[in-house]
Amino acid sequence: MFTCVLCEKETVITTNLCEKCRRIKHLINLYEERVYEVLENVLVRNTEGQLKKETQEISKDIEKKKEYNLRSVKKEEIKESKK
Ligand SMILES: [Zn+2]
Repeated sequence: MFTCVLCEKETVITTNLCEKCRRIKHLINLYEERVYEVLENVLVRNTEGQLKKETQEISKDIEKKKEYNLRSVKKEEIKESKK
């Protein structure tokens, strides 16, 4: 048995990361640099307005993702129509 390499608190048996930290790693894979920016911007701030800021950041990311997905779909449709 080992300790999670990220939080260094949870006990892990077959992996390096505990479940919560694996989730964080997954988010880093998805959002890359944004994760670090959001953590700095949101958590390093004082508690006033924290939740508001977090919600705004997440909403922005969701909107960006929607736009990206729409663009991807359009590209796929174009590819399909050329066949
Ligand atoms: Zn952990």
